[in-house]
Amino acid sequence: MRSLSDLISAGVQGTRVLVRADLNVPLDTSTGDPIITDDGRIVASVPTLRKLIDAGARVIVVAHLGRPENGPDRSLSLAPVAIRLAELLGQAVRLSTDVAGPDSSAQANALTDGDVLLLENVRFEAAETSKNPELRGVFADQLAGLAQAYVDDAFGAVHRRHASVYDVALRLPHAAGDLIHAEVEVLDRLTGEPARPYVVVLGGSKVSDKLPVIQALLPTVDRLLVGGGMCFTFLAAQGHDVGGSLLEEDQVEACRELLEQAGDRIVLPVDIVVAEALVADARLQVVAAQRIPSDRKGLDIGPHTVAAFTDHLKDAKTVFWNGPMGVFELAPFAAGTRGIAAAVAAVDGLSVVGGGDSAAAVRQLGLDESAYSHISTGGGASLEYLEGKQLPGLAVLENAATESTT
Ligand code: ADP
Ligand code: MG
Repeated sequence: MRSLSDLISAGVQGTRVLVRADLNVPLDTSTGDPIITDDGRIVASVPTLRKLIDAGARVIVVAHLGRPENGPDRSLSLAPVAIRLAELLGQAVRLSTDVAGPDSSAQANALTDGDVLLLENVRFEAAETSKNPELRGVFADQLAGLAQAYVDDAFGAVHRRHASVYDVALRLPHAAGDLIHAEVEVLDRLTGEPARPYVVVLGGSKVSDKLPVIQALLPTVDRLLVGGGMCFTFLAAQGHDVGGSLLEEDQVEACRELLEQAGDRIVLPVDIVVAEALVADARLQVVAAQRIPSDRKGLDIGPHTVAAFTDHLKDAKTVFWNGPMGVFELAPFAAGTRGIAAAVAAVDGLSVVGGGDSAAAVRQLGLDESAYSHISTGGGASLEYLEGKQLPGLAVLENAATESTT
């Protein structure tokens, strides 16, 4: 893959460079104006943008926010992101009113060296995510027409065959941004020959999302610690009643097979924090994992589990953690995630946190981000990379740059 420094050494002063960034931040819309609740991805996009700005490029950023269903949706405008990005860069960030239409063209042409233009939410254009390559192609032509080079720095989107991730790279000389480089380098250390013991901690909501990565990692891990909503399908596979906890009936058999294959390396919770309902003032109870009352929901791992998992992490030399241990968004159910976050932070070796919600949990719980070797900006992308899948957005960067179509 051509690197950002290769591109910059070739000279970018006065060149319009289209940068695909991952600025898909969580928003709180409950009080009217959307508020960014975790700016981690904006912060992570700054180094690549800074380098291009300093090299005199005219930077055009393309990014998505949320999942707009029917075209432009004001509540998913990148306006609050433009404001935060400007603060972080310490310079003005213009925002276009369309994605690759007349306003974008006019603003792109008006850029001077070192200026930054953010295009409005790329998913306002249905063609961005279309399965039809021709539709994506028409849109990618418009995007490519705005610039003379393309840099992909949106690691969180490289598993998508989208116009701004894939098709545009077929149309412009391209390079991988520093963030993509850093992510790939770390994930390669997890799939290569990791220092042992190698411990993987998985949580989050759905076991069906994580089964492929479990299957891919299980042959190489020494221990797999399972918490979060997904642990209940494993507990059910062991024949336990999980009450009203999250349960994926259609995955029970797959979990039973995993336990048969590698039950000695899969570690499940011994106790669970349960409540009648998922509310902030819930009356909590800690019960044994095998004895969840039928009228209760398991919403966090219990203190004995935190202690046991912490023990399993103590001598680890490589750790990959994905997925919160409980519903950390509500204070009564955050202790498990906080405890595991601390245990992973204390690891003396390579500690990698992957997953959008896991990364958000680390920051929201006020933990020290620098205690981890790496916090990945990509949830789905990092899991698919670890599964060994070919990711369209990376594959396209590996191919030689095509001639510019402009
Ligand atoms: P990531 O984005 O880090 O990959 P996921 O998206 O898989 O993580 O899962 C995150 C979500 O899982 C969180 O919103 C959290 O509330 C939820 N979760 C964790 N534990 C439970 C549980 N016991 N019951 C229901 N949801 C849970
Ligand atoms: Mg998530």
